[in-house]
Amino acid sequence: MSDTVKYLLSEEDLPKQWYNIVADLPNPPAAVLHPATGQPIGPADLAPLFPMAVIQQEVSSERYIDIPKPVRDILRQWRPSPLYRARRLERALDTPARIYYKYEGVSPAGSHKPNTAIAQAFYSKQEGVRRITTETGAGQWGSSLSLAGALFGLEIEVFMVKVSYHQKPYRRAFMESFGATCIASPSDMTEAGRAVLQANPDHTGSLGIAISEAVERAVQRDDTKYALGSVLNHVLLHQTVIGIEALRQFELANDYPDIVIGCTGGGSNFAGIAFPFIGEQLRGGRKVEVIATEPANCPTLTKGRYAYDFGDTAHLTPLVKMHTLGATFVPPGFHAGGLRYHGMAPLVSQIVAEGYATARAYHQLECFEAGVQFGRAEGILPAPESNHAVRCAIDEALRCKREGTPRTILFNLSGHGNFDMQAYTDYFAGKLYDTEYSPEALQKSLDSLPSVAA
Ligand SMILES: *Cc1c(COP(=O)(O)O)cnc(C)c1O
Repeated sequence: MSDTVKYLLSEEDLPKQWYNIVADLPNPPAAVLHPATGQPIGPADLAPLFPMAVIQQEVSSERYIDIPKPVRDILRQWRPSPLYRARRLERALDTPARIYYKYEGVSPAGSHKPNTAIAQAFYSKQEGVRRITTETGAGQWGSSLSLAGALFGLEIEVFMVKVSYHQKPYRRAFMESFGATCIASPSDMTEAGRAVLQANPDHTGSLGIAISEAVERAVQRDDTKYALGSVLNHVLLHQTVIGIEALRQFELANDYPDIVIGCTGGGSNFAGIAFPFIGEQLRGGRKVEVIATEPANCPTLTKGRYAYDFGDTAHLTPLVKMHTLGATFVPPGFHAGGLRYHGMAPLVSQIVAEGYATARAYHQLECFEAGVQFGRAEGILPAPESNHAVRCAIDEALRCKREGTPRTILFNLSGHGNFDMQAYTDYFAGKLYDTEYSPEALQKSLDSLPSVAA
């Protein structure tokens, strides 16, 4: 077998439908509650924020949902994405495991995020929206929505977590090149931002705060909607093209994963690769071991509580049942900014709570070590977020070596790290540290979770 083994699908194999795991789960998702009344919300409550087509997807229990042709026409530019067999990494690890990775870094923004940005921008455009507001952590989501905005002729306004705004100037330049406006959050443009700045003028920002700012701006104007890059059901749905393609690519490889791994910030790239495989299992197909990986200093799935919480700091968003560290929890700074969110997608939370997946937390140094080892073997430098999946895949491959079991491992390489050179520079300079969250701050944040009648 040659060293470079990839499984490519033709353009005709680009999925025509997304997969909705709600159709196959034994239990329905927990109700979403109104932030003020605590009562279940309906589609009308979400209408100021999202296009109606997106809201319908959010509450859908249809197994398959058609991907509109204009969306497919754009996705076609980089999809289907390649599935690689990591032969050189296998050899470097001297493992009997077969390691495969699905590579989402081939999109124009360098990650999986355009898969949903394109869809969300399309539905906004279709419903006459002129402007979309959003937040971004490390900048990948803002980049992806800016790209989508340019393609559909929409104005994009991005609130970027302040610490990343300064750490990642190229991300901001990328967004502005596509015509978007990028604002450091907390900002003085919104009440939510001003309140935070008044309490702490040096606040470095958080995704929770940036969401509050973007939501506040969206509800102010009729021609403006809000878009979220992760967490919500419709976002996870749009990412399932990843796993649907991977299923077909494993047919070409005449193989099937025993283990499926994805890193989790809000849970979308993990859901994208894992849900179609879990769906096969739920419908009586082969069992897979599914592992969600997260940063040890923002340990939503491994240390958070499965409870109702707000998605943002100012409590403007609905209450959803999810694994959460509490909306007031501000994780310490680290380089995988895209994983720095206090909550987890409700569907990913449910899947972990019901035992269809397990979670593991890793510190950043061991993740960078894995990313560099992967890069030197495979020639692709992963995004710092993706390194959490790489670490787990390598650990599992080494376990196969110890136990002498040739298992098949699939992980999602959610993005490349070409915009994250500062992180790698710091890593090689010995300036990257494993920071710890404050257990007292976490306890305080969990203690202030909203109380919701069961
Ligand atoms: C944003 C991002 C993540 C984390 O977001 P999810 O919604 O959990 O997928 C992971 N990897 C990359 C490359 C990202 O850009």
